[in-house]
Amino acid sequence: MTFTPHGKHLIAGDWVAADAKFTSTPTNGAGQEFSAGNADLVDAACLAAEEAFWDYGYSSRETRAAFLNAIADEIEARGDAITEIGTLETGLPAGRLQGERGRTTGQLRLFATEILKGDYLDKRLDEALPDRQPAPRPEIRLVERPIGPVAVFGASNFPLAFSTAGGDTAAALAAGCPVVVKGHEAHPGTAEIVAEAIHAAIKSCGLHPGTFSMIHGGSYEVGGALVTHPLINAVGFTGSFRGGKALFDLCAQRDVPIPFFGELGSINPVFLLPEAMKARAASIGAGWAGSLTMGAGQFCTNPGVVVTVEGAETDAFVDAAVSELANAPAQIMLTEGIADAYRAGRDKIAAHAGVEELLASSCEKRDATPYVYITTGKEWLSNKDLAHEVFGPLGIVIKVKDQDEMLAVAHGFDGQLTCTLQMDDGDMKVAGKLLPVLERKAGRILANGFPTGVEVSSAMVHGGPYPASTNFGATSVGTMAIRRFLRPVSYQNLPAAILPADLKD
Ligand code: NAP
Repeated sequence: MTFTPHGKHLIAGDWVAADAKFTSTPTNGAGQEFSAGNADLVDAACLAAEEAFWDYGYSSRETRAAFLNAIADEIEARGDAITEIGTLETGLPAGRLQGERGRTTGQLRLFATEILKGDYLDKRLDEALPDRQPAPRPEIRLVERPIGPVAVFGASNFPLAFSTAGGDTAAALAAGCPVVVKGHEAHPGTAEIVAEAIHAAIKSCGLHPGTFSMIHGGSYEVGGALVTHPLINAVGFTGSFRGGKALFDLCAQRDVPIPFFGELGSINPVFLLPEAMKARAASIGAGWAGSLTMGAGQFCTNPGVVVTVEGAETDAFVDAAVSELANAPAQIMLTEGIADAYRAGRDKIAAHAGVEELLASSCEKRDATPYVYITTGKEWLSNKDLAHEVFGPLGIVIKVKDQDEMLAVAHGFDGQLTCTLQMDDGDMKVAGKLLPVLERKAGRILANGFPTGVEVSSAMVHGGPYPASTNFGATSVGTMAIRRFLRPVSYQNLPAAILPADLKD
């Protein structure tokens, strides 16, 4: 069943339109008009979210779990229509959209199970010690409480799993926080149909309509107004360094600064260790090529850089990777702006004197094919701008002289979402030397795989030191993501009758 968007915003249960419009940019060129967001709509959504918090923030975990499950059901009920409009708007293949839908409903249900278990509440009890000398100890109980309305930015590269009902929204709603989503202009129709699913779940669960609102973009005014709105308590964001840093700064400059949980990009270095290379250089090369081109390289975990010791194995790795990548078909990028940024990043790298082109292909309009460059450890260490993320299927091979230089390159990386070791048993010593450095660089360290494909689970960290994320203590994927929207509160000597329900037992 084809979904035809009406182009309106969902503000506390009502579909509303403002005068200004923007036109969507689907791959078939048949753009449609959407109402552009503005500061008044943001204000209305935030006021309703604050009002909703006095119900929703005090709802039972069972109520919220039922709501999360209902959203998943409503998304599934619209499954084919979501895939159709998502594919049209983003250029991502239908199979990817179907997989992403499964991840989205899976993480909604995972959070439902997680809150029913209750461990996330981190309940603590210091029993009263009335006879303690020299002073008695009071009874102190602690529980995590929801923080209030939260802002979420839809991400261009995950129209479902990191947008309207994505990981940030699921985590905030699970915590007990109403959500105001700022949709991404790259997929406004997808945002609308998913918002419709959440709206239906709110109605069937009998919740306050202000629990969820979705405002389309159209200008930076919407994002700025949202993060500076006094009733917003935290922000979830995935996107560019530039956009994320601008919004982060706005959060920090508020009269009451709030946390900005931004995931701002990463080049995800892969270290090729000598014994693994002796055993399987060519297959590692082919594996890297596959990971680099997945989703046209538009993943935050795209492995943009490999570090390898010069020699015959590295030559075999490069030959295998380049021959795979040379045959990779062109893929459609998410937006013309992202394709422009890909071309600009490529031109910057290609212009470096110390960088050699191994594979030149093309990027016409939104169609991208891979590029591969090679440089030395010395060049890399002396040119900071080579380390900037180029969003797309572009890879750089850093050829180092020896293991000492590999370690120096590892020290030189900025914060990353992931670091990967391709290693065999004989590489244990060098891997052991790298690990303490990589731990300080990344939120996730992998052996013998590639970082694309992020498991949604309890032990997953999708975050890392700045600039990979703006809060190194947090993750935006997995059940621990709920912590971002909670605040510990201690209750000292309070009568049980008025304690929060979660503390009463
Ligand atoms: P973006 O430009 O950072 O935009 C993300 C969101 O932030 C959009 O809703 C945008 O609003 C808003 N925004 C950006 N700058 C703002 C500002 N100064 N004030 C208020 N709001 C602002 O990211 P994008 O559009 O998804 O893609 C652009 C580039 O981001 C890509 O080329 C890529 O380099 C990077 N990116 C990285 C990742 C990653 O995971 N590492 C993911 C996606 C994108 P508007 O809709 O109004 O523009």
